[in-house]
Amino acid sequence: MQSLSEFVEQRRPVGGKRSGKRDFIVQVFLRQDGHLAADELVHLIRTEDARISRATIYRTLQWMVDAGIARKVDFGEGRYRFEHSYRHPRHFHLICKTCNQSFEFLSSDVEALIEEVAEARHFSARQSVLQIYGTCENCQSGRQSERVTAPTEALFARDALRIAIATERSGLEFYSRAAALTKDARGRKVFKRLALEEQEHLGTLEARYKELLAEHPDLESHPTFLFFKGAANGLFAAGTDALRAGVDDRHALLVGIKCERGSHQFFKRYGDRFEESEGKRIFLEFADEEREHLDLLIREYRSLVQRQKASGRTGKRPARPKAQA
Ligand SMILES: [Zn+2]
Ligand SMILES: [Zn+2]
Repeated sequence: MQSLSEFVEQRRPVGGKRSGKRDFIVQVFLRQDGHLAADELVHLIRTEDARISRATIYRTLQWMVDAGIARKVDFGEGRYRFEHSYRHPRHFHLICKTCNQSFEFLSSDVEALIEEVAEARHFSARQSVLQIYGTCENCQSGRQSERVTAPTEALFARDALRIAIATERSGLEFYSRAAALTKDARGRKVFKRLALEEQEHLGTLEARYKELLAEHPDLESHPTFLFFKGAANGLFAAGTDALRAGVDDRHALLVGIKCERGSHQFFKRYGDRFEESEGKRIFLEFADEEREHLDLLIREYRSLVQRQKASGRTGKRPARPKAQA
């Protein structure tokens, strides 16, 4: 994990000098989690050190924007707000015009669509902003609830872990079922091994989820942050359905290959798009695991085909059901 000082150091412009005041302003700004108006930052800084002038704070804020430490957001209030980008992945906003709160979310599908449009129009995009204005759930229902905040990175990690856990579970079910169905001894061993691996990974992911909750006890009370068009666990569920319908050993391996390939692609595609964060790491690590499973299944499939050829049991059709099936 990149430390705060590394993060700032990396973004210092070439030839940019260190300055005690500026470093202090940056530190205070990075401690804030919400979307801060310039005046609010001035207030925060000056309560801690009244010698720092408003002009210095404004200049530093602009410096942080230029250096990529701060993002400037306009919620249509007639003034800008600023959010930091340290361990705070890119996101979109829902903005309530009644209580003036903003709520963050992310959808890689929306980002991909924006890129597609820009590309089709040969537009070189530098930044895209998506803001949805309206009325939040609490303001609609007249319910008062205290404002709970959790760092965006923690919400991101929570949602990434949830989706990885759901995929592991469906993978575990798929392999346990495939192991029970397969008559080929070697194929059965592979499925059993994969089921065992999924079980282990599941344990690791669940432990990580628990750790995250221990760090942020109210994390589960927050709404979904990360949205997907389709989730990877659907792939294994479809695979399990295919097994239920009855398949032979070769076919079971092919179904597994299809699931693992789809799952690998899903986690890699989304993981690659995310900015450096715990959520990104969870996705990319998971993509690697799925890649290993995919390679193992492909090797097993080839080996099974060879063995069947050698024993003269196969015809031209690649996945011919056995007589008894
Ligand atoms: Zn509201
Ligand atoms: Zn934000």
